[in-house]
Amino acid sequence: MTEKKLAVIIGAGIGGIATAIYLANNGYSVAVFEKNSAPGGRCGQLIREGHRFDLGATILMMPGIYREIFDTLGIPLFENNDIKPLENLYKIYFDNNDILAFSTNKEKMQIQL
Ligand SMILES: Cc1cc2nc3c(=O)[nH]c(=O)nc-3n(C[C@H](O)[C@H](O)[C@H](O)COP(=O)(O)OP(=O)(O)OC[C@H]3O[C@@H](n4cnc5c(N)ncnc54)[C@H](O)[C@@H]3O)c2cc1C
Repeated sequence: MTEKKLAVIIGAGIGGIATAIYLANNGYSVAVFEKNSAPGGRCGQLIREGHRFDLGATILMMPGIYREIFDTLGIPLFENNDIKPLENLYKIYFDNNDILAFSTNKEKMQIQL
C-alpha cells in the first residue's frame, strides 16, 4: 500500500479550506492549522446573544469559483438557491459628501471613477 503524501496548510480561511479540499481530492492527507478557535478567517462570523455578525465577506463575488469548489465536493450550491446577479452593489460615503456607488455595470463605474 502506498502512503499518502501529507500536505500542511496554515490558516483555515476560505483560501486554505479550498486548497485543502483540492489536495484531499487529489489523494493527499491534509492537515489544516488555524490560530483562531474557529475557521473562516475574513469570511468568519461572530455569534453574540443570539445574533450572527458577518466579519467580512457578505457579497458572493466570482460565483464560478465557488461553484467549481462545491461541485468538486458534490454539493449542489446553486441548484436549490435562486441566485441572481445585482447591478447595484453598495455605496461608499466619504467625509466630503462624495459617494461612490459600486456597480457591476462597467459604464457606471467608469463615469464615477
Ligand atoms: C470587511 C470585509 C468585507 C469583505 N467583503 C467581501 C465580500 O463581500 N465578498 C468577497 O468575495 N470578499 C469580501 N472580502 C474579502 C474576503 O473576505 C477575503 O478575500 C477572503 O476571506 C480571504 O480569504 P483567505 O483565506 O485568503 O485569507 P483569510 O480569510 O485572512 O484567512 C487566513 C487564515 O489564516 C489564519 N492564520 C494566519 N496566520 C496564521 C498562523 N500563523 N497560524 C495559523 N493560522 C493563521 C487566520 O486566522 C485566518 O483564519 C471582505 C473582507 C473584509 C475584511
